[in-house]
Amino acid sequence: MAQAPIIVKKFGGTSVGSIERIEAVASRVAHAVQKGQAPVLAVSAMSGETNRLISLAYQVDPSYRGPAYDMLVASGEQVSIALLAMALEKRGISARPLLAYQLGIQTDSIFSKARIQSVNGAFLVDLCRQGVVPIVAGFQGIDEEFQITTLGRGGSDTTAVALAAAICEETREKCVCEIFTDVTHVYSADPRLVKTAKKIKKLSFEEMMEMAALGSKILHVRCVELAAKYQVPIQVRSSFIEEEGTWIGEEESGMENPVVSAVTHEANTAIFKLFPVPFGPGFLAELFAGLADKGVVVDIITQSQNEEGQRLAFSISNEDIPLAEKYIQQTLSEKVELVKLSNMAKISVVGVGMRNHPGVASRFFKCLDRLDVPVHIVTTSEIKISAVFDGAHLEKSVNAIHKEFGLDQ
Ligand code: ADP
Ligand code: ASP
Ligand code: MG
Repeated sequence: MAQAPIIVKKFGGTSVGSIERIEAVASRVAHAVQKGQAPVLAVSAMSGETNRLISLAYQVDPSYRGPAYDMLVASGEQVSIALLAMALEKRGISARPLLAYQLGIQTDSIFSKARIQSVNGAFLVDLCRQGVVPIVAGFQGIDEEFQITTLGRGGSDTTAVALAAAICEETREKCVCEIFTDVTHVYSADPRLVKTAKKIKKLSFEEMMEMAALGSKILHVRCVELAAKYQVPIQVRSSFIEEEGTWIGEEESGMENPVVSAVTHEANTAIFKLFPVPFGPGFLAELFAGLADKGVVVDIITQSQNEEGQRLAFSISNEDIPLAEKYIQQTLSEKVELVKLSNMAKISVVGVGMRNHPGVASRFFKCLDRLDVPVHIVTTSEIKISAVFDGAHLEKSVNAIHKEFGLDQ
């Protein structure tokens, strides 16, 4: 008899946000088992729980990052996997809740932004072959010294794809990863902000990677990178409605791609402007190495130079402001003026079709100009254009740009 196909199913925070929802997930998984699937589950903390844990840490020390922080914020997942295991057992399905150290999810030691290095795929396949459903805590790993690490906000998506990649390596068969969430599809913009956003049926890894990197919360960026590297097909679909969702995979050749596939935004952005800073790339190298060392992820960097000195601007996320500010105050001379702009927003248009269509940048900026939105920083790549401006302009700008590129049609 053919072996049951192993499918990784990831359930996000809202999907397991209450006991009723955990029961509903258990029924759905039990149904998949009855249909002949061998599910491997990756599960987030119940919605709101990680935020609650972060706010506790913040009350003790807002700039602390390290093993104790990761141990704290990883604890939400322990609760949800245990409850889901109980709900499955109640339905007569054998289940095994697994924390990262029990399964073997090895990561580096970059706390709060750790990267997965290996997963014990053989153990998962073994459990599946015994008819047991593994329920893996998302978001967490274990480093060389057996310390708990976490993968960054939204990191359970990455856990799920890493499980699928490890299973695929073990079985030598493709392993699909289904991401169950609170929307039915990836949309042409965040449906919470743009009411006319349209469902997208298929996206290439590359487009989804840009969207995730540019702030679309729907998938964790590292998850898409891993999926592209290990060729794991992802389906983003609803936890609550039975409907085929969005498939993310290799770009199909010969397809006429839309110029712009989606508009994404990142509301949680801050800009630091420094003037005058010492001339030359040596200073920049040192500054950004120091910030990285403190765990600050710098996004866009712009720099210009004239006879008055070197002017520098860069963007980071709002929550890294205390860390970045502390580092800059400790290392830079008082003569350097620091302007901090918090509550900025980044808006981006993404599409592989942009490669062959000029004029996208001009339409993008004309649209912002019509709305009278001053832009602080801009960055572009082959398939995206991004601009950072005051967050107060976000909603009207996302909606106008979505319309400008015909995404509401
Ligand atoms: P989960 O808890 O299941 O991981 P998330 O909150 O991380 O769910 O991601 C789902 C949310 O992503 C949606 O509720 C939606 O508001 C947001 N989102 C942002 N951009 C998009 C988009 N382009 N398409 C769909 N959802 C999006
Ligand atoms: N619980 C973690 C978070 O809220 C991880 C996740 O949900 O993916 O960020
Ligand atoms: Mg998420």
